[in-house]
Amino acid sequence: MKELLNELTNELEGKSIEEQLSFLSNRFPGKVVFSSSLGQEDQVITEIIGVNKIAVNIFTIDTGRLFPELYELTDKTRNRYKIKMDVFFPNNEDVENLVNEKGFTSFYESVENRVECCNIRKVKPLNRALQGAKVWITGLRGEQSLNRSSMQLLEWEEGRQLYKFNPLINWSYNDVLAYIEKNDVPYNPLHNKGFISIGCSPCTRAIEKGEDPRSGRWWWETSKKECGLHK
Ligand code: SF4
Repeated sequence: MKELLNELTNELEGKSIEEQLSFLSNRFPGKVVFSSSLGQEDQVITEIIGVNKIAVNIFTIDTGRLFPELYELTDKTRNRYKIKMDVFFPNNEDVENLVNEKGFTSFYESVENRVECCNIRKVKPLNRALQGAKVWITGLRGEQSLNRSSMQLLEWEEGRQLYKFNPLINWSYNDVLAYIEKNDVPYNPLHNKGFISIGCSPCTRAIEKGEDPRSGRWWWETSKKECGLHK
């Protein structure tokens, strides 16, 4: 699998995103999945998949701590494109143990506690959703963070033994906004209230103009601002 990275990258170069997604879904039938958090980037990708009826399995993760707006947007998105969007939940015992032992807001107390909560509510369901997949599509953009700036269009993820395809890796935030406006793509109304990168409600806040877009996530921490989904 890993040996195909250069060949596949060459195939993808020069193609539109629609063509790239079609190529991958034909090359790996039934094994291409897209994890959507319903952020603006993910909505762009869903639009391309939905309008062109590309055979990609779309899923999202309900951590149990999401904003109500996200549930409305999930249903709206499903209805607009007439697509299936599987929802993965955390293991109920894991959540019960966490909350019963440490309470509902342990993530504010230490980075370890925050990572533990993200691991239970996000990473473990993600790993379950990715089982059997050969290509994982993401909405990551290089300019979102230092961590993401070194990412490639197509990468091999050794830990999960799959290709990670980042079709928007070279897009700017303005590119995303322009695409959404032009195509009337549905998006979370919180984006109009200063929320740029949106995760769980207790761990996301609105930011001021000019602030780092990721600064609204886990704002009380000074570390890297990743939840462990993208290693
Ligand atoms: Fe838990 Fe916050 Fe991570 Fe959501 S973002 S899983 S509430 S620590």
